[in-house]
Amino acid sequence: MAGMTSSARPPLNRRFAEFGTTIFAEMSALAARTGSINLGQGFPDTDGPDEVREAAVRALREGRGNQYPPGPGVPELRTAIAAHQERRYGLVHDPDTEVLVTAGATEAIAAALLALLEPGDEVIAFEPYYDSYAASIAMAGGTRVPVTLRPHEGGFRLDLDELRAAVTDRTRLLLVNTPHNPTGAVLTREELSAIAALAVERDLLVVTDEVYEHLVFDDAEHLPLATFPGMRERTVTIGSAGKTFSFTGWKVGWVTATPELVGAVRAVKQFLTYVASGPFQYAVAEALALPDSYFAALRADLLAKRDLLAAGLTEAGFEVFRPAGTYFITTDIRPLGEKDGFAFCRALPERAGVVAIPNAVFYDDRETGAPFVRFAFCKRTEVLTDAAERLRAAFAH
Ligand SMILES: *Cc1c(COP(=O)(O)O)cnc(C)c1O
Repeated sequence: MAGMTSSARPPLNRRFAEFGTTIFAEMSALAARTGSINLGQGFPDTDGPDEVREAAVRALREGRGNQYPPGPGVPELRTAIAAHQERRYGLVHDPDTEVLVTAGATEAIAAALLALLEPGDEVIAFEPYYDSYAASIAMAGGTRVPVTLRPHEGGFRLDLDELRAAVTDRTRLLLVNTPHNPTGAVLTREELSAIAALAVERDLLVVTDEVYEHLVFDDAEHLPLATFPGMRERTVTIGSAGKTFSFTGWKVGWVTATPELVGAVRAVKQFLTYVASGPFQYAVAEALALPDSYFAALRADLLAKRDLLAAGLTEAGFEVFRPAGTYFITTDIRPLGEKDGFAFCRALPERAGVVAIPNAVFYDDRETGAPFVRFAFCKRTEVLTDAAERLRAAFAH
């Protein structure tokens, strides 16, 4: 019969069956169908700096990166990544042996987990987590062990006792994300020190996703885990150009670590994409060398947008967890008399003409995540003003 597979066995293997289609596809389709403002998926609605785009055009025209670039990434970019880590954080890396360019942070995460895990190894990740973590752990045959971030004094906090209790003899690595998507939490020096001490004590590897390193607000500070005592030699640090330079379609990410760890990740990465994003690698090399004023302006712009959307959500009656980093706001819908984020988000386009994401999709324990809903604020000011108006009109009395 047309459209049916010949075998009784479903085509998708059991490792992936639980993942289905991402909520982003459903919600973006809903946004298009209803003409709603899409604050679901986290991509900017304007492109990054002109000079960075022009650098990509120049590379294309001059034939730099149009053929397979070197497997570890073009030397210009590896040098720029090493310079960025040293200038910002005092972390010194050899561009030839301690830096690896990947097809976005997404490939870096998958390659790192495929490289570092044996089947059955346990991976501790902070729940709610970015959706590719669970899939990548599954690809590697690992077992994910969530440690849940919980609401505390207007933000989401890590319970260090819970983290310590989650470590077993089978734990191989900690998968850390700071600044944290979707909660907007930025791990503090105390929390990071405790994580580092635990990793050293239990001899764990750490993979740390720092793609929002430049998007921190107020007095929050991004501190790379690799800078903590004992961590340089056990940490795989992941970065990306997508969020920092507002070119999420370019898919240029990177790994920095010791030669042994980078070598392990590269061994897997070469058979995933081999290489990617040739001309864009040259453009990102230039972007990383932008003056501090670029990064400060990016932060100031997003800070104003955070405050605009947070004010609208607060006036509409949501409980707002003001993010210290990233470009997402997590809210609690219970003050609106709601408790099911899925149902709420499916109805929101009709009720308010806005699309958001139910945080439950980022939890193993969907009950715990049920009342939380995420809004992205990496959109033009007039779009956010309109969204805030719509939410006020729909919910404020
Ligand atoms: C967007 C995002 C990524 C993916 O980054 P790419 O460079 O686009 O692959 C990884 N981790 C987190 C937490 C993200 O929000």
